Formats: sequence, structure tokens, C-alpha cells
Amino acid sequence: MSAVQPIDAPTPAAASCDVVIVGAGFAGLYMLHRLRGLGFTARVYEQGDGVGGTWYWNRYPGARCDVESMQYSYSFSEDLQQEWDWSERYAAQPEILRYANHVANRFGLRSDIQFKTRVDRAVFDEAADRWSVTLSDGQMVRAQFVVLATGCLSNARMPDIKGLAGFKGAVYHTGKWPHHDVDFAGRRVGVIGTGSSAIQSIPIIAEQATHLTVFQRTPNYSIPARNAPLTDDERDAFRARYPEVRRFAREVARNGIYTELPDRGALDDAESDRRAKYEARWQRGGLTFMSVYNNLALDMAANDTAAGFVREKITEIVKDPGTARLLQPDTYPIGTKRICIDTDYFATFNRPNVTLVDIKANPIEDILPDAVRLADGTKVALDALVLATGFDAMTGSVARIDIRGRNGQTLNHKWAEGPKTYLGLMSAGFPNLFLITGPGSPSVLSNMMVSIEQHVDWIADCLGVMRDRGLVTMEAKRDAEETWVAHVNEVAKGTLYPQANSWYMGANIPGKPRVFMPYIGGVGVYRQICNDVAARGYEGFLMAPAEVVRKAAAV
Ligand SMILES: Cc1cc2nc3c(=O)[nH]c(=O)nc-3n(C[C@H](O)[C@H](O)[C@H](O)COP(=O)(O)OP(=O)(O)OC[C@H]3O[C@@H](n4cnc5c(N)ncnc54)[C@H](O)[C@@H]3O)c2cc1C
Repeated sequence: MSAVQPIDAPTPAAASCDVVIVGAGFAGLYMLHRLRGLGFTARVYEQGDGVGGTWYWNRYPGARCDVESMQYSYSFSEDLQQEWDWSERYAAQPEILRYANHVANRFGLRSDIQFKTRVDRAVFDEAADRWSVTLSDGQMVRAQFVVLATGCLSNARMPDIKGLAGFKGAVYHTGKWPHHDVDFAGRRVGVIGTGSSAIQSIPIIAEQATHLTVFQRTPNYSIPARNAPLTDDERDAFRARYPEVRRFAREVARNGIYTELPDRGALDDAESDRRAKYEARWQRGGLTFMSVYNNLALDMAANDTAAGFVREKITEIVKDPGTARLLQPDTYPIGTKRICIDTDYFATFNRPNVTLVDIKANPIEDILPDAVRLADGTKVALDALVLATGFDAMTGSVARIDIRGRNGQTLNHKWAEGPKTYLGLMSAGFPNLFLITGPGSPSVLSNMMVSIEQHVDWIADCLGVMRDRGLVTMEAKRDAEETWVAHVNEVAKGTLYPQANSWYMGANIPGKPRVFMPYIGGVGVYRQICNDVAARGYEGFLMAPAEVVRKAAAV
């Protein structure tokens, strides 16, 4: 990491533009495209050396989307969605990365993206109503607006395990996978973690490795993906329905995914009917398992029926009863941690070269140069370690930037007790600073493409309105923010979600405040709220010529 300059160091000559966008994932790319279309000058800074964000970094074996590709794709360009051929129901990482590159080329975006450049600091200059943005190469950029398209799952979390640095074998993090092929043939491999990335990669690593040891703290619910190649007919049929599919995903669906709306709760059906419905969804595969009934996220007894069904499936698949028992989640309701979808995950534990170690009962004591040592003294000899330990989600990448708003207040200080935003879009005291899929918006609880496009469109439209009306600064009002934060908490409390120690709650990061970060009210409802706010003249925001905003903020 390059050193961050002291706050009052002499500033080097600054480049300037209307908008600095941080990150060149799907959010940053579309933001740039929209702003250019409105005639704004915008510059994207990306720490990686290519576009694609998540799909640039997560190159582990088996990485693929879990929202079906025909839906996990941009909808803003009819030509784009008609011309791009997804090869599988769930595209693998290389294909999604090709798609991101295709988008960057097709819309000529690269000339405004600077790669291998991290944004280290952003300071709001109250006298000039401009942000001063410091880059990792020491350059300074001045901009009227900053958009943080930094990603919710982009700050890979390294576990704090004694001795890890002294391990002599290869160490990989799924979220920062090397760009070259990694071959595990002839190696004894350990995977630490059993979240989504582990569940995708374990079956493939098991096929290559001499032996695979999976270190599990908490088991996860996982549903078969039933991935398969897409035929021309399937693609064409889907494309023909795109107007309806996209409308439904944006306006009606809770999670931005086109599927049947459940019309009843789980306890409204007799046991045999319920089982038949779960079985049908299990056979269909994919994330829509949780939308069989309308109360699985709300009612514990209803949730138990779905959780019990999945536990039974695990017992059926996994031959060793002890291993099956360990793989069955029973300490949190199904769906309250991000539900996983897999290809042969549970069956992989029937292989003779795979061992499951319960590190809740027998924690990792330390890592030796050639082994993992457990609390009971057992040593598991390893040649390679895969850390599938997830991310400092939603706030992690924002927190790594030294962001200073009015009166020099840092965003990290303001968010010390948990993130505070108005609509997940702005935080009071930080004028002209926008977040895409920030905490307080549906974000990671949704098909992210739907949420990204919604936020980008809302921000772009807003900047256009400001320019047309001669407005210079915009910021969230504190009371509007407090009301929104309370609403986000209230809605979460009415569900089963806070019962799980999930990364939605920040529970995977030691010391991180336990706050349910995403807005669970549903993408359709949330979109309507944002649209209504805009229609009422951006209610809850201060938008005014510079002088007026400064005086109001001082009160
Ligand atoms: C393995 C995996 C699978 C997923 N599958 C799905 C799925 O199927 N469906 C779904 O809806 N979502 C999925 N997600 C969530 C996924 O993150 C989003 O769908 C989407 O790709 C996010 O796009 P983004 O542009 O907001 O963020 P990202 O793709 O994370 O991009 C953010 C970019 O910002 C850059 N950046 C961050 N901080 C800085 C800085 N200070 N300076 C410069 N650059 C910076 C990062 O390097 C990164 O490239 C998945 C996530 C993971 C990790």
C-alpha cells in the first residue's frame, strides 16, 4: 500500500472532472456509461488491472453466478441483451468476465478508466464544494461528485489464525485468486470456510487433490443449482419475454428475480403437499427454493419445514451419518444467511479423499509450516491452503478509503456504530458522495444487477436535475437519515434474518458492529420509495446552490 499523505500536505496539481467513480465492476461501468450519455465528464479509478470487479477477482475453481445468467445481466441496452449469448443457466466466472469486457469495449468505456489505481482518500473541500480525491500513485483529482462503486463483496477477509504467515505451502484466498491456473493434482489441500465460494470450489478441488480436508465452523444450507447448457430455443424464448421479466424483477419481485409469487404460507398446506412443493423446487434447483411460500423469512415454524426438508436431503445424499449430521445446519433459520446453490457439494463428502473437520467443536489452534493443528493436538498435514473466508461485506471497501466530509468528519468515525445512510444512497454530512448498493438498500439481498441499475439510474437522473436547476451540492438531511435507518432496522426485526450470525449482520468480522445492513423491504417497494422521493423534489435531501446548503448544514 502506498502511504496516504497527511491531510494538510501541499496538494499536487490536480486533474478535474465532474464525477469520480471508484471501481470498475458492473456498477462503475454502467455509472460511467450513464454519465457520459448526460454529457458529464467522469473518470473511473480501479485498483485491479481490468474491469469486472467481483468477476475479475473471484477466479477460484467453480466460481459462477447463482442468479441465472439471463437475469444476472444488464437490462439497460436492448441490443446488448439481445446479442449476448449466455452459454449456461449459470455462467462460470470466465464467461461473466468476458461479458464485462464486452460491455466495456462495446460502449467504449476504457478511455475513461484508469486501472491499477486505488482511491486512498476523498476530502470534501467546503470552500469550493469539490471533492479532492487522492490516488495510490500520489495524484490528486478534483471532482464535484464522487460515486462509490466499490462493491459489497470486494474486500477479501483474511482470517486471523496464528501461524498462517509461516505456512510453507501455497495459500490462496477465493476472493483474490491468482490469474494463472492453479493445479491441485498431487497435493493435500485444506479449505477453511464453508460459505458460497467454498461450496462452489470444494467439488472441483476434490477431483484434483490427493486429499481434501474441509474445515467447517458453521454448515450452510445449499440447494442444487441444476446447471446446464442453454439451448438456442431457451435463450430465444427468454429474450422474447425480456420486457415482462425485467419489469417484474424491478417492480414486483422482492429480490429482483423473476419467479412465481407465492400465494400462501408453508403451514397453509398439508404435510404431503408441502413436501411435494419443496421436492419440485429442489428438482428445479436454484435460489427460488425460498420463494415456495410467502412466510419462510417471517415465521419460525414455517421456516422449520423448509430447513427440515433440506436437512433430510443432506441425510439422503451423504452416506456417513456422522458427516451428514455435521453438514446439517441447525443453529439458524434457512435463508437468513445467504443461501448457497451447488453442484454436487454434499455428494463430494462421499469421496474417499475428502474429510470434514468440525472446527466449532475442535477449533484450529494454529497453522504450522506444513499442517493445520487443531485444539486437541491433531495435525492435518497440508501442501496448500484455500481460504474461503469471505469478505468484510458492504462497508469493508468503503472503510478502506479515508473519506472526510463536512467539518473534517470521517465516514469511518460516523459509521463506527454501524453504517448510517439515507436510502443507502448518501450519508448526511458527506455532500455529493453517492454509494451504489450501499447499506440501507436491498443490495446483497437481491439480484445485484437489478439493484445496481436502479441506483445508477437514480443517481444519474439526480445529477441531471441538479445541473438543469443550477444546484451545486446535495446531501442527506440528518432527520431523514435517522428515520430511514430506524425503518431499515424495524423491517429487519420483523423477520428471522437477525437470528443468524451472518455477514449481513457484520458477524463474520471480529469487532464489527452487529447491525443488519441491507434493506429487506424488497426491491420493488424500495424502488417506489426512491422514485417517490425524487418526484417530491428529492425529499429528505438538501439540494441547493452552494451558499444555501452551507448555511443550512451549519444550523
Ligand atoms: C463469488 C461471488 C458470486 C456472486 N454471484 C452473484 C450472483 O449470482 N448474483 C448477484 O446478484 N450477485 C452476485 N454476487 C455479488 C456481486 O458482487 C455483484 O453481483 C456485482 O458483481 C457487484 O458489482 P459492483 O460493481 O457493485 O462491485 P464489484 O464487482 O465488487 O466491483 C467493485 C470494484 O471496485 C474496486 N475498488 C474497491 N475499492 C477501491 C478503491 N478504493 N480504489 C479503486 N478501486 C476500488 C474493486 O477492485 C472492484 O473491482 C457475487 C459475489 C461473489 C463474490
